[in-house]
Amino acid sequence: MSESFEQLNKYQVDSLHETSEAATPEALDAVHLKYLGRKEGLLTQLLQTLPSLPPDQRKELGRKANEAKRALESALAEKKQSLESARLTKTLSETAEDLTLPGTPLVRGGLHPLTKVEEDIVAVFQRLGFNVAEGPEVETDDNNFTALNHPPDHPARDSHDTFYLKSHKDAAGAPLLLRTHTSPVQIRYMKTHKPPLYIVAPGRVFRHEAVDATHSFVFHQVEGLAVDEGISLADLKGALTLFAREMFGGSAEVRFRPSYFPFVEPGIEVDISCAFCSGKGCRVCKNTGWVEMLGAGLVHPNVLRGVGLDPGKFSGYAFGIGVERVAMFKYGVDDMRLFYENDVRFLRQFR
Ligand SMILES: [Zn+2]
Repeated sequence: MSESFEQLNKYQVDSLHETSEAATPEALDAVHLKYLGRKEGLLTQLLQTLPSLPPDQRKELGRKANEAKRALESALAEKKQSLESARLTKTLSETAEDLTLPGTPLVRGGLHPLTKVEEDIVAVFQRLGFNVAEGPEVETDDNNFTALNHPPDHPARDSHDTFYLKSHKDAAGAPLLLRTHTSPVQIRYMKTHKPPLYIVAPGRVFRHEAVDATHSFVFHQVEGLAVDEGISLADLKGALTLFAREMFGGSAEVRFRPSYFPFVEPGIEVDISCAFCSGKGCRVCKNTGWVEMLGAGLVHPNVLRGVGLDPGKFSGYAFGIGVERVAMFKYGVDDMRLFYENDVRFLRQFR
């Protein structure tokens, strides 16, 4: 066998070995260039020597060289595919997202505890058939005081520490004011609606008071008003007992004590049995078993007359619930200021 055949055998063995050893697509390209390059390739050069060989060898060598060339080409292609697929797998495993990982949690906002408590209070009375009414925060002296049986110079006005808007006056020339309670909504509603009336009026009220753990210059009330024929204190007690049980638990009790508010007669201070000690006595109720919760009473005949209702025919009850007071008691918060500072560490607990 001639030198050329030996050369061919060596190229064939070497090239297939180098192909299987190649670790990267670039190394494969180098093998391709070394044996099959158009000018310098070893197999290419060997084929170029064919014309100088004797005819019988020329044919045999040509066939074997072409076989070697095809075998190498197919080995190169196969190896290239396997290297590329290995590289792809590696890239994916290093950079791809793991779709089975839990996502980043979406931080959701929540209602402010005062909003939540206000909505809860309103919802209790809506279930009893009360409608929701609202009024403006800037009021006339008449709606805030006079129509509610606080005539001018009445001493009860002093207890309200009112913010007056001196440069804004009503039709009678009296300065407008920031409402000191939600009770003017009673007047507005009774002037525009006929009994039977059952409303709750939630909203902000304002008093010129120093801020401390139990006072603020702005706070929230839910006013209640029922006007119908034959309404008595028993109806008021029934409604407030239901309210207490819905807000503070099924065994809550209410207690009425006589009090004084100009627009009701009789005026009632309403206590609720302490939810923390079930009436046994604790720090929250100052060992009395009861907590002062709200003011109420039967609508004063002067108020009914003032809006054109006959007190001989109609009677009613009214109450004013302090939203902050309910929230503090419900959640055991002993400083009202926490509700206004809006520290998310505090607010987050109520979501
Ligand atoms: Zn208690």
